[in-house]
Amino acid sequence: MIRFVLVFGILLACVSNALASDIDLQQRVDLLIAAYPDTLERQEAGRLFFRDGGPPMVIDDGRAKDHAAKLAGGDIEDSLHDLYASGACETVPARNMDPGRIRSEPLLKRLYGNSKKEVATSLRGVDWFGQILQVTTRHGVATALEAVRDDLEKRPDLKPYLTPSAGTFNWRKVAGAPNLSVHSFAAAIDLNTSYADYWVWAGGKAGNVPRYENRFPMAIVEIFERHGFIWGGRWYHYDTMHFEYRPELLAIARVAGSDACR
Ligand SMILES: [Zn+2]
Repeated sequence: MIRFVLVFGILLACVSNALASDIDLQQRVDLLIAAYPDTLERQEAGRLFFRDGGPPMVIDDGRAKDHAAKLAGGDIEDSLHDLYASGACETVPARNMDPGRIRSEPLLKRLYGNSKKEVATSLRGVDWFGQILQVTTRHGVATALEAVRDDLEKRPDLKPYLTPSAGTFNWRKVAGAPNLSVHSFAAAIDLNTSYADYWVWAGGKAGNVPRYENRFPMAIVEIFERHGFIWGGRWYHYDTMHFEYRPELLAIARVAGSDACR
């Protein structure tokens, strides 16, 4: 009986692994293109093509990178690799599981603007519980954030966590890192810092991340994810007040079944 349970358990583990890895790079890139249809056109022979006719980008640079190198200079393949686990579940992220924190900065620049000035041409004010926040209109981000707000407004008990927001648009690098934060592209929002747990503020240094903490209710996370935003509380390098618009990772999660905790 024990042997049967063991074998059955291993079989189940294999099936779920197969499901989780059953989405190859080509499918992931198709979901990326579908998430930003105004800018992205198609993939062909390992390259991503743009509607503006600008130079295509190589999807996978073929270089093996450790986690730090991926964070500092990830390619498109790296940015789509780690499966984001969406839904109501609150789990402590495994070591170096940072789905969404690895980004292709050259791609973000093509999606939102190459400089602070260029990003600024696409901003508009979003009324965030009486506070006006500057958010990009590219790819429907401002409209998506308003949809988040409208859903959150139905839950007055959550308001203390949401306001004041610590900001959206801010052209800056990730603290202690060489790459630009998604705040640079006005496609991210920080909620109330009074409830924030951030690995750097907790005393973390590269290679030494303090114990995971979170004080934000999962109801907030579910609403953001519903509208295309991922949560920094699902990262090993946790940043629990942070949400950023990455609908491609939620679409990949749905196909891969890593949204199963709903
Ligand atoms: Zn942030």
